[in-house]
Amino acid sequence: MGTVLRHGNDEQKKHYLPKIASGELRLQAFGVTEPTSGTDTLSLRTMAVRDGDEYVVNGQKVWTSRAEHSDLMLLLARTTPKDKVAKRTDGLSVFLVDMRAVKGKGMEIKPIRTMINHNTTEIFYDNMRIPASSLIGEEGKGFRYILDGMNAERVLVSAEALGDCQWFAKMASTYATERVVFGKPIGTNQGVQFPIAEAYAHFTGAQMMVQKAAALFEAGLPCGAEANIGKYLAGEAVWKAADTCMQTYGGFAFAEEYHIERKFREARIFRTAPISSNLVLSFIAEHVLGMPRSY
Ligand SMILES: Cc1cc2nc3c(=O)[nH]c(=O)nc-3n(C[C@H](O)[C@H](O)[C@H](O)COP(=O)(O)OP(=O)(O)OC[C@H]3O[C@@H](n4cnc5c(N)ncnc54)[C@H](O)[C@@H]3O)c2cc1C
Repeated sequence: MGTVLRHGNDEQKKHYLPKIASGELRLQAFGVTEPTSGTDTLSLRTMAVRDGDEYVVNGQKVWTSRAEHSDLMLLLARTTPKDKVAKRTDGLSVFLVDMRAVKGKGMEIKPIRTMINHNTTEIFYDNMRIPASSLIGEEGKGFRYILDGMNAERVLVSAEALGDCQWFAKMASTYATERVVFGKPIGTNQGVQFPIAEAYAHFTGAQMMVQKAAALFEAGLPCGAEANIGKYLAGEAVWKAADTCMQTYGGFAFAEEYHIERKFREARIFRTAPISSNLVLSFIAEHVLGMPRSY
């Protein structure tokens, strides 16, 4: 939504934002990733070609989450072919697509079954016609608008991971205190309590960095390094916390009743999406430490 807030025109904001805020319109879908481009967003192939007062969209996206439950979608598509732009970052545009008008009419949504309940889909665009007024900001500058929202997304996703860390720490420490084996609580064994304490320490460190990134973002200051480092630390911390909680619960961790196995599966997403830990490390290496670009 930040993209509409920052780069949408007055008419778009007046038309959509109050209804998004009240919940009347659901803007949740974000169509960037494609099957063949992966993390290399600039090589995306979905094309939007201007035709009078409309754009005609053709291509395919994957992992467009919550598309089945969204009224609006932010879509990133190429408007100028790759070989006709001066810079790789040019020629991409962002559209605010009113999905209610195009579902089944050029937009075909297929759910993807996944190991977590993320309600994600693949979407096929076949001559989908959208009004030219769907364009956000200037044509060809879309990649910049999407990048602009990335730091906020990193902070938001990190906060979600931190919430999970707290949940795992609470569940593990409570269970370790209450579960009695060999005549005493398992939490009296340092082999059980140290991993929980360690996971909590990692959580606390990650939380400080994420809070710093959020404060910088709120103040309108650069926060790329902090948002990325926070995302990396939170993603790794939650995975450590999830694994520790699994181990603490022993066999009962595998029973659906306790939700540990479900949260364990869910915790794994943060090391992969919306950006993988490797790609964050590349950012830190290149943009914070000044090392050569690796890709
Ligand atoms: C459940 C789920 C929901 C999602 N929701 C959305 C959504 O709503 N909208 C959307 O647009 N996308 C969404 N995504 C996509 C997500 O952002 C991508 O999966 C993620 O960015 C990784 O891209 P990829 O899957 O193509 O992996 P790839 O780019 O194919 O990478 C595969 C592996 O190779 C590594 N790798 C690749 N290049 C390098 C390199 N240069 N150096 C080191 N390592 C490298 C990566 O770290 C990764 O581990 C979602 C994904 C999932 C799984």
